[in-house]
Amino acid sequence: MSEKSLFTRIINREIPADILYEDDQCIVINDISPQAPVHMLVIPRLPIAKLADAKHSDRVLLGHLMWVAGEVARMAGVSDSFRLVVNNGKGAGQTVFHLHLHVLGSKSSTQTFSENNL
Ligand code: AMP
Repeated sequence: MSEKSLFTRIINREIPADILYEDDQCIVINDISPQAPVHMLVIPRLPIAKLADAKHSDRVLLGHLMWVAGEVARMAGVSDSFRLVVNNGKGAGQTVFHLHLHVLGSKSSTQTFSENNL
C-alpha cells in the first residue's frame, strides 16, 4: 500500500492544520508558510498526486475545487484580488504530491467558515 500523503494525514486529523472549510469532496487550510497575506490551499479528499494525473472522471471534482476556491476567497475578503496557482510536478516546484490549489490573496482577513455560511 502506498504511503499516505501529508494532506491525507491532515484530512484524517493525524497532523494539525488551520482548517477553514471542508465538505464531502475537499478541505481548505491555511498554508503553513504563506507567500501572500491570504494563502489558502484547496485540497481534494481524493489523493490525486498531481493535476496531470487527474482522470476524465475527475472533471466534476476539479470544477468543484475551482468553485470552492472562489467561495473561500470571497469569505476571506479577497474575491477581487486573488490568484490561483497549481504547481504540477517537481519541475514546477511541486513539493507535496497530493493535488492542491493555492489561493493567494492580497488582503489579510481570513476567517474560519463552514459550508453553511458560504
Ligand atoms: P507545492 O509546492 O505546490 O507542492 O505546495 C505545497 C505547499 O504546502 C507549500 O506552500 C507549503 O508551505 C505547504 N505546506 C507544507 N506543509 C504544510 C502543513 N503541514 N500545513 C499547511 N501547509 C503546508
